[in-house]
Amino acid sequence: MASIHSTNSSRRLICCIGTGGTIASEPTAGGLAPTRQDTFFRRIRSHPSLTSPTSFDDSNVSFSSPVHAELVGKNVRYPRLVTPELDDQGLSVEYEILDLDRHLDSSEMTPAEWNTIASLVYENWDKYDGFIILSGTDTLAYTAAILSFLFHSAGKPIMVTGAQIPLSRPRSDGWTNLLDSLFVTGTLDLAGVGIVFNHQVLQGARATKTSPNLFGAFTTPCVPPLINLNVKITYDTALSLPPRSSSPPPPLIPLLTTPTVLSIHIYPGMTGDLLEAQIATLPTCKAVIISAYGSGNLPINPESGVLQSLKRMVDKEILVVVISQCAIPNVYPLYTQGRTLLSIGVLPGYDLMHEAAFAKLIWLVSRPDLSFKEKQELFETPIVGEMSV
Ligand code: ASP
Repeated sequence: MASIHSTNSSRRLICCIGTGGTIASEPTAGGLAPTRQDTFFRRIRSHPSLTSPTSFDDSNVSFSSPVHAELVGKNVRYPRLVTPELDDQGLSVEYEILDLDRHLDSSEMTPAEWNTIASLVYENWDKYDGFIILSGTDTLAYTAAILSFLFHSAGKPIMVTGAQIPLSRPRSDGWTNLLDSLFVTGTLDLAGVGIVFNHQVLQGARATKTSPNLFGAFTTPCVPPLINLNVKITYDTALSLPPRSSSPPPPLIPLLTTPTVLSIHIYPGMTGDLLEAQIATLPTCKAVIISAYGSGNLPINPESGVLQSLKRMVDKEILVVVISQCAIPNVYPLYTQGRTLLSIGVLPGYDLMHEAAFAKLIWLVSRPDLSFKEKQELFETPIVGEMSV
C-alpha cells in the first residue's frame, strides 16, 4: 500500500494564515473576541510542543520578548518558527504565521474573505510547501469546501483548523490541532484540502460542524476520516488525498461577492408562493439550494405550486439543486417526487453536505467562461470527491 509518510528528509516551510476565530481569541471587556494582536504569536512562540529553542538565535526568548513582525500589505507576518522533531525520522517543520489585517469570528465570513484567503495562498504558492488556514469553527467547513474547489488538483496540502477552546484558555484543543496540522502539512506526502481537528484529517469538501461542545467538532457523515492521528497513524487508502506534486493551482477564480446563492429549507406546508417570495428578495440570484426531505422529496402536488415555482427558476437559468435535510444525506430519485424534479431540470445533490453544495455553486456561478448547461453538467460531476454519484 502506498505510504503518505515522507521520504523527503529536508525541512518544509509552511504558511499559517490567521483569520481569527476561537483559536485566536483573547479575553476582552466584552468577552472572548478574536481581536488581532501579537499575543497569539507570543503564545505559540513560547509553547514547547510548537516551537523548538532552535528557532531563535537568543535562547532567552520568552513570552514577553519583543516581536519583530513585518507588515505585508495590510497583513502581518511574524518571524519564522521551527517545531521540535515531529516524527521518527527527526523531521521538524518551519512555519510562518501570516495574520489577516482583521481577525474575524468566522460567522462574519463572506465570499469576500474567501477571496482574500485564496489570493494569499495563490500568491504565496511557490514560497511555501503547504498552508494551514486558522479559522473559527462556525464556518470552517464552508471555508474548507470552497478552498477544495478553488485549489482542486493543486499539488500541495492546504489544511484548515481551529479550536473549540482558545489558546488563551486552559485545556485548549488548539495546541493539538495546530501541531497535527503542522505534522500533516509539513511531514506527510499528500496534497489537497483537508480539515485537521481532534486527531483526524477530514476531506475538505465532505465535512460539517456537528458539535459546538465536542472536541470532535467536525464529521464527514458520508465518508470515513482520511487519516486518524492516533498512536498509530492510519488512513483510508481508497479516499487518501493525492500525493504531493508540482501541479500548480488552477487559475484563481474571483468569487462573486454579491449574494448569488439562496438556500431554502423545505418544511411542512411549503408553497410555491413562499419560494417565489424568497427568490424575489434576491435579484442577483444565480443558484438555489433546496434542502428537501429524505432522499430528495418535497411536495409536488399542483395546489402547493412548488414544482411550478422550481420550473420557473430553471427556465430563468437559475441552478436549482436538491440536497437532503438528513444528517447522512443521500438524494436519489426513488420516489415520483424525485423523478419529477429531475424531469424539470432540478439537479440532484446526491450525498453533498450543505457546505459543499454552497461552495460548489458559488464556484460555478463565479465562472463567466461557462454556459448555464456547462454549469449544470459540472455540478453533477464530482470535482474533488465532494459527492458519490
Ligand atoms: N464563533 C467562533 C467562530 O467561528 C466559534 C469557534 O471558532 O469555535 O469564529
